[in-house]
Amino acid sequence: MEETKEIIIIGGGVIGLAIAIELKRRGAEVRVISRDGQQAASYAAAGMLAPMAENITVAPMLELCLKSRWLYPEWTQKLEELSGIDTGYLPCGILAPVSERANQEELLKESNQKIWLDRDNIAFYQPGLGKSIIGGWWYPEDGQVDNRCLMRSLLQTAQALDIKIQEGVTVKAVQQKQGKIDRIITSAGEIAAEKYVLATGSWSSQLLPIPVRPVKGQMLCLRMPHQPHEPYPLQRVLFGDNIYLVPRQDGRLIIGATVEEIGWTPHNTPEGIQKLLTKAIDLYPGVADWQIEQFWWGFRPGTPDELPILGVSPCENLYLATGHYRNGILLAPVTATLLGDLILEGKSDPLLAHFSWQRFSHHHNGSLTKLKRNKEMTLLNNSSPSNNGLNLSLQVHQTPSQTRVANSAIDSSNQITSEDTLTIAGRTFNSRLMTGTGKYPSIKAMQQSIIASGCEIVTVAVRRVQTKAKGHEGLAEAIDWNKIWMLPNTAGCKTAEEAIRVARLGREMAKLLGQEDNNFVKLEVIPDAKYLLPDPIGTLEAAEQLVKEGFAVLPYINADPLLAKRLEEAGCATVMPLGSPIGSGQGIKNTANIAIIIEQANIPVVVDAGIGAPSEAAQAMEMGADALLINSAIALAQNPPAMAQAMGLAAVAGRLAYLSGRIPVKQYASASSPLTGTIS
Ligand SMILES: Cc1cc2nc3c(=O)[nH]c(=O)nc-3n(C[C@H](O)[C@H](O)[C@H](O)COP(=O)(O)OP(=O)(O)OC[C@H]3O[C@@H](n4cnc5c(N)ncnc54)[C@H](O)[C@@H]3O)c2cc1C
Repeated sequence: MEETKEIIIIGGGVIGLAIAIELKRRGAEVRVISRDGQQAASYAAAGMLAPMAENITVAPMLELCLKSRWLYPEWTQKLEELSGIDTGYLPCGILAPVSERANQEELLKESNQKIWLDRDNIAFYQPGLGKSIIGGWWYPEDGQVDNRCLMRSLLQTAQALDIKIQEGVTVKAVQQKQGKIDRIITSAGEIAAEKYVLATGSWSSQLLPIPVRPVKGQMLCLRMPHQPHEPYPLQRVLFGDNIYLVPRQDGRLIIGATVEEIGWTPHNTPEGIQKLLTKAIDLYPGVADWQIEQFWWGFRPGTPDELPILGVSPCENLYLATGHYRNGILLAPVTATLLGDLILEGKSDPLLAHFSWQRFSHHHNGSLTKLKRNKEMTLLNNSSPSNNGLNLSLQVHQTPSQTRVANSAIDSSNQITSEDTLTIAGRTFNSRLMTGTGKYPSIKAMQQSIIASGCEIVTVAVRRVQTKAKGHEGLAEAIDWNKIWMLPNTAGCKTAEEAIRVARLGREMAKLLGQEDNNFVKLEVIPDAKYLLPDPIGTLEAAEQLVKEGFAVLPYINADPLLAKRLEEAGCATVMPLGSPIGSGQGIKNTANIAIIIEQANIPVVVDAGIGAPSEAAQAMEMGADALLINSAIALAQNPPAMAQAMGLAAVAGRLAYLSGRIPVKQYASASSPLTGTIS
């Protein structure tokens, strides 16, 4: 593990970079870890600096935004000096034309920040507006920055200041001990630093249980026609009803943006772009025949109250700077300044109190006391946008005997030193075996088997528990849910609609059993009772909806690599291809397809169903599966607890073998002892 005195900033968007530069300029040692600079919302934005045009009404938010707008000229000037790159900052004012539909009362409230222009006056400011425009507001102090130039300037400044930027590195988990972050686990190894800042935008809830969700925005860009030595037809930002036109100094016209609550669904869509173009032409008909240059989309980091989450966290060396939603470009300088004061000087500006994570915490006292427990704990991702909860609940590391075997074996050979854990939707598990509760001869056999297997995740059929179906009476109470993570499943659902309903029930069930933050669901949509094969279309439909509702979706599928990819793109937390039909004990019948799924996946692949014997469990793990779900082979064995233990060991053996790298298969014999030096 790497140990460092640096402050580590997680996330290299505008917020992460602005904070890194601020801290470095005040003398701190800083490092930025960035998974993918290009996916940042900071590149997708329009770059408007528009506290007035955005009509922000919450007083502390307006104050924060105005402060940031005020900081902008000096901040960008400094960046330009340090980087030599123009940021495109332009205090051009924003014109907000209104049509007949506008609320007349609003028209009366003028101020020095907000000036009413009637039809003639607005035509003077901006000729060529649509016929429906009856006048408009002029916000002289709002403006814009070219956010892509700004990002280039920030990156160059960071380089000039010798800030280490690890691009292409993902922080996979944050681990804490005694109320402090002890280390972070990244795709490039573990790092222990002095302090950490979470600036991961829309992706924040993948690392911490904070209610930040992606809100998609589609955009496009036109080229303004232009005669040499003449100004471009648009000089100021036009801010209409759900549409804005932002003219850049280089002749591009940025048009945005849709506001879509559809989770991580990527791409531009004909409907999205059509809406933007229709509104743009209404507002300024001249654009109708201008050249289209580019389309793109991005994810705004939205929070339940649309305000950012800034300042301290429940861990004393972790700071939060996320959830900037529609105004992150505007808020970058003020965020950097306030966090700089807080992190380096312990000075907490009174404004920060309004943006604390605690406003979302149901049990914030409980969480804090739990955080202080003197045991090694891992912060978990339990966020669920629908419950708006910020429950930093913690899990005491359990080390099942099998896992201990695995870790020590790996460590003593010095080949693989990092702890080999399984992470699903930000939650970390030591065991790679999941089990179920069905088909056991008795509740006692089930309890013993769960313990013997060393598993930490147990799937439970929501319907059967709810209806107390035979063999399921008292089942929910029979398991120690403080130690076992519940994976509610939608078994028995024939359609997407049913599965969605049952998934919601499952979430409530997990809550009732004390897992307030459990948003996991094993999605099963199985219309056919004979072969019990999952319906791919229904599964995808249900998965899309459930992801949107904040579930961590673990879909059960046929081993179809294309479907697996589609589910991953839809935002599922894992894919769970079947080895062979459920309960058949036929083993892995589709190795070729499972191998493709494993090769392509960026999320854990859990081989589910069909495994009959430990050798088959090991086989799936040797292929590189991340985990297994085994129920029938354990529950229906003659001695379930013994079989459970065997399956647990097989999962560990297979995983170890996979990590160790098996020898290639050769056609001929190859002597085990070297032949050199033999007397012939
Ligand atoms: C279409 C659209 C238009 C917008 N228009 C405006 C506007 O006009 N004015 C305005 O002020 N704001 C606007 N915004 C909002 C603004 O873009 C965002 O609020 C701002 O960019 C958020 O910055 P950020 O640094 O927090 O997140 P991002 O820019 O999204 O950066 C987050 C970074 O963190 C990285 N990351 C995530 N998870 C991890 C991990 N586990 N490990 C390592 N790295 C990780 C990501 O790869 C990403 O690079 C707009 C947004 C959109 C989508």
